[in-house]
Amino acid sequence: MKKQPFVTLEQVKEIVKEYPTPFYLYDEKGIRANVQALNDAFSWNKGYKEYFAVKATPNPFLIQILREYGCGCDCSSMTELMMSDAVGSTGDDIMFSSNDTPVEEFQKAADLNAIINLDDITHIEIVEETLGKLPKKMSCRYNPGGTFKITNDIMDNPGDSKYGMTREQIFEAFRVMKEKGVEEFGIHAFLASNTVTNEYYPMLAKILFETAVELKKETGADIKFINLSGGIGIPYLPDQEPNDIMKIGEGVRKVYEEVLVPAGMGDVAIYTELGRFMMGPYGCLVTKAINEKHTHKEYIGVDACAVNLMRPAMYGAYHHITVLGKENAVCDHLYDVTGSLCENNDKFAIDRMLPEIEKGDYLVIHDTGAHGFAMGYNYNGKLKSAELLLKEDGSIQMIRRAETAKDYFATFDCFPIYEKMIQE
Ligand SMILES: *Cc1c(COP(=O)(O)O)cnc(C)c1O
Repeated sequence: MKKQPFVTLEQVKEIVKEYPTPFYLYDEKGIRANVQALNDAFSWNKGYKEYFAVKATPNPFLIQILREYGCGCDCSSMTELMMSDAVGSTGDDIMFSSNDTPVEEFQKAADLNAIINLDDITHIEIVEETLGKLPKKMSCRYNPGGTFKITNDIMDNPGDSKYGMTREQIFEAFRVMKEKGVEEFGIHAFLASNTVTNEYYPMLAKILFETAVELKKETGADIKFINLSGGIGIPYLPDQEPNDIMKIGEGVRKVYEEVLVPAGMGDVAIYTELGRFMMGPYGCLVTKAINEKHTHKEYIGVDACAVNLMRPAMYGAYHHITVLGKENAVCDHLYDVTGSLCENNDKFAIDRMLPEIEKGDYLVIHDTGAHGFAMGYNYNGKLKSAELLLKEDGSIQMIRRAETAKDYFATFDCFPIYEKMIQE
């Protein structure tokens, strides 16, 4: 399948009159259609709710769009909780799925009446000590260990993952929590990341549903929800078949009817905490070719760098690139597309066949809407870009301004000549 950008060269030429490259651009129309499709896919479940994984794209404007569709926020840090609060998402609209949690964050989550999803059995005591008593409604994160397989393919390695409680621990946790007055329970697991298969959620659901039935039988816990968490992936590669969310929803429904309904648990709500699936394809990084270099290889230098998008440098992740205005040109040039960091892994593409690129060409780096801007850092003193929203009516809204040198130096206000640093 050919990957098409959601923005044209003509549009970008207009945008750069006001906002210089590099910038992140998000597609409001795509975001809305996708969240609607997700809700439709799970409409068979009365209590269904998506808690958007804020860490994927922590932008209040985008979260507000999702809020219109009933989404809550999945948070795991103090500032994520603060952002969630700021967009009016509190109480049962926050799932606090943290790990290695500082007590201040448990306190903040409790102040906002968030649902606390415990990563570890030792946190029962910590939460009890911090809050005086356990909240009425709580959840536990489960990690069955071993490998997670779909037919014969290993999808991921829960046994190597730091998250969640063992089977023994979650049974013990439910017993203890019930004794300590918890009345409503949830279970959560996140066993594989960026899965591009319609089988992941149904298989995870089977594990969690069967565990829920046993937990209820053995501990008498009143299980109100089962949280399938994140992990539904997106096709970063042009030849990958995208997930079909309707099939995924139906797959989960089938398991629900096979396992939960006969156990008298047909009123359990299904929750999800998707991040990548909600935003990934609906964001791109737009950057300009500013240098070309011909040495042992052919290099195109762009004005974005790994500070703006870390996934290629960090994971060797593939992000498709379109040269705007050359969408249909033949890809007959072999390039490394690089940023300007003093780090040889600062490359958006290595040995990529692309149309001939000239200085001044605009490149769209696809599928950066999740875990893109959010992972940004400031190495080499590089500054983070603006985030822009391409609205449904075709207009552009700035949803985060670009960082300035003043922002970068702001934490040096303890330095004697700070004033000189921030002069612009
Ligand atoms: C990262 C994360 C998610 C979202 O994961 P995606 O792969 O973006 O869907 C959901 N829940 C928790 C607890 C996470 O850490």
